[in-house]
Amino acid sequence: MKILLVDDSNSAALVMTARLSSYGHTLIRAVDGQDAVEAFKAHAPDLVLMDLEMPRLNGIEATNRIRAEEAKRQWAWTPIIFLTASSDSTCLVTAINAGADDFISKSSPEPVLRAKMMAMARIAALRESVYRANLKLQELASLDGLTGLANRRRLDERSDVLWRKSQITKRPFAVLMVDIDRFKQYNDFYSHQAGDECLRKVAQTVDAVVRGCGRGDMLAARYGGEEFAAIVCGLGKADASALGQRVVRAVSELELVHEHNPPWGVVTISAGLAWGDRFEGSVGQAFRWADEALYLAKHGGRNCLATRAWGSS
Ligand code: GH3
Ligand code: MG
Ligand code: MG
Ligand code: MG
Repeated sequence: MKILLVDDSNSAALVMTARLSSYGHTLIRAVDGQDAVEAFKAHAPDLVLMDLEMPRLNGIEATNRIRAEEAKRQWAWTPIIFLTASSDSTCLVTAINAGADDFISKSSPEPVLRAKMMAMARIAALRESVYRANLKLQELASLDGLTGLANRRRLDERSDVLWRKSQITKRPFAVLMVDIDRFKQYNDFYSHQAGDECLRKVAQTVDAVVRGCGRGDMLAARYGGEEFAAIVCGLGKADASALGQRVVRAVSELELVHEHNPPWGVVTISAGLAWGDRFEGSVGQAFRWADEALYLAKHGGRNCLATRAWGSS
């Protein structure tokens, strides 16, 4: 384990360091409560061993601050054990009330310290696996199961963030809505399973082209059914339009046979682009305009892009 040892006494810290190192743990030393909070933020230890009496900030105050820091950063709970000179039970109560998990006497016999460290190592391992499972869950909750693209939930979150960012930085904002042409017929003639496979391929293509736009502030997502949406922040009007055209072309160039999609005979998409660099309205409005543009693309013959722009150029 990575252990943060907080003790103002050099001699006590030396003894403890020697004992804990001999069990195979890595030690980080802090000399008072203030130092402990900084070291905690910098090193994210698996366990904190905290002296009670220290100058500047005592153990209880430092524990309170560490707990506040964890809450602020949404970090997992790190076990904190108080090191006390006595084995007085009021110490335990004070420690637990302050947000610590246990206390141990500095003069504990060797086997007691060793056993406590074993128990803490188990908790540290468990904490790590819960933390990883949680990250995985969060990731899964924002992905579409069929296509692997971001899902609608993730798109909504990211749209709000990027819309605000574009307002603050005065950079253009673009929404691209994409809908597969005559997809109902595709399902009817080639089966729903083939339809799913087609959706995956179109999704990967839309995603790859949007990622290739050279902007970090972008996201392609499955909007729902056979519709996809992309948001991009910072592209000029001509570049946004070129991106939309590339998406449309890339899907037709997949050459996925679709006999009931005349005159092309392959799977195609229609796309609507809303682009703007003047920031009245809302992100919802931008999506509605992209939807209107998509409607125009459908009625303009499909396999094409229609644009609706607001702002200066
Ligand atoms: P248009 O060119 O006007 O867009 O015609 P369309 O047939 O694509 O439009 P419509 O909205 O009538 O059909 C959409 C179809 O998309 C109907 C639905 O079965 C299909 N679809 C939606 N989600 C899925 C899915 O997850 N898998 C498959 N295979 N099909 C889906
Ligand atoms: Mg002390
Ligand atoms: Mg549709
Ligand atoms: Mg469609």
